[in-house]
Amino acid sequence: MLHQKNLTVNAAGHLAVGGVDTLDLAREYGTPLYVLDEDMVRERMGLYVSAMGRYLPAGSGPYYAGKALCCKALCRMAKEEGMGLDAVSAGELYTALAAGFPPADICLHGNAKTEADIRCAIADRVGLIAADGEEELIRIDRIAGALGARARVLLRVTPGIDPHTFAAVNTGVVDVKFGVPIPTGQALAVTERALGLENIDLAGFHCHIGSQIFDAGPFLLEVDVMTAFLAQVREKTGYTAGILDLGGGFAVAYEEADAAPDCAGMIRAIGQRLEERCQAYGYPAPAVLLEPGRGIVAAAGVTLYTVQNVKDVPGGRRYVALDGGMGDNPRYALYGARHSAVVADRAGEDKTCSVTLAGRCCESGDLIGEDVALQTPRTGDTVAVLTTGAYNYSMASNYNRVPRPPIVALRGGQARLIVRRETLEDVAAYDL
Ligand SMILES: *Cc1c(COP(=O)(O)O)cnc(C)c1O
Repeated sequence: MLHQKNLTVNAAGHLAVGGVDTLDLAREYGTPLYVLDEDMVRERMGLYVSAMGRYLPAGSGPYYAGKALCCKALCRMAKEEGMGLDAVSAGELYTALAAGFPPADICLHGNAKTEADIRCAIADRVGLIAADGEEELIRIDRIAGALGARARVLLRVTPGIDPHTFAAVNTGVVDVKFGVPIPTGQALAVTERALGLENIDLAGFHCHIGSQIFDAGPFLLEVDVMTAFLAQVREKTGYTAGILDLGGGFAVAYEEADAAPDCAGMIRAIGQRLEERCQAYGYPAPAVLLEPGRGIVAAAGVTLYTVQNVKDVPGGRRYVALDGGMGDNPRYALYGARHSAVVADRAGEDKTCSVTLAGRCCESGDLIGEDVALQTPRTGDTVAVLTTGAYNYSMASNYNRVPRPPIVALRGGQARLIVRRETLEDVAAYDL
């Protein structure tokens, strides 16, 4: 019934994460509580590092997409496991640097970097900046010049691939806020412009086709489009790219029915296709960067809540009201994203109910899920919502002035706080 090997039912019938009883965690740290299986995070990081080292050209490696879950402890784990890091703002950059993350292994992303973001990145000697377009390239060039530095840049391009139809489509998918489209010819023109800028070192190209990609197909198409583009750029300008960043988007099994994707197999397939295409074009194989975010942390996270009340609407639904909600997990409200849930107190029992998990905010849309299969819930139970490691804490808010929950990391059966619980004083700390 539990679809991840780190989730078990212990002798007391309670849900355990990495062997640790979730009711003990709820008692010790309070709810709502983010629980992160650090052993699993490190295992996932190691999997990408080793598969990329094995199947992709020299210099290849994964950059953890910090936006999925960014705090100092995560940055330290990424560093220790040999990953680079993607940051999207001066705030993520600051967090990484404060955690001792080497700036040379950081890439700054974003479609609307501010002057301050760019200045921080260059002054802090960040290894790569993914430039989103022509205006931004010119701005990076100017700021680098003013700081007496050179900026090492990837140009973000839009290959025109819909990852969910596995098709190259020139319209629609290039009409997005990120990057410069290849199909319209703009990517080539902007590359020519980049090569002429004095303070820019063009290191290569970046693209990212989407998220929840379950098999290699869309990535292989991405390799096809990108290698054709590289060959075209070389023919028109003589420039050979050293780096090809294929972005993130490796899928996660959010629900019990989802099959866990085979990341190492996908990476091997990417490596084979890249080698084939590069041989066909007589192009020296570039180092490949991948940017897994949710693929690293989503499955390692579980959120614990306490049931505040259970309400049956006659002829309607059963509402299970929790002490958290969209403030700590906005994914259902934002995207209709689904998570499985378990009554942690009776995790071994069959799930005989279908419930609506309601949050505590003053907002009808504040739900964690609808039609969620669950053991019979009672007031006071601990409910565990699964697969919440990505885009929960990082997207959390103080809506209704609810303090954000802490994060407890589990390693080798030991729990430690990596982000403390916000207090009511924290919530009002900026008010004058
Ligand atoms: C969001 C994003 C990622 C990470 O996506 P996941 O689905 O979490 O793997 C990586 N790279 C870029 C540029 C992104 O925008």
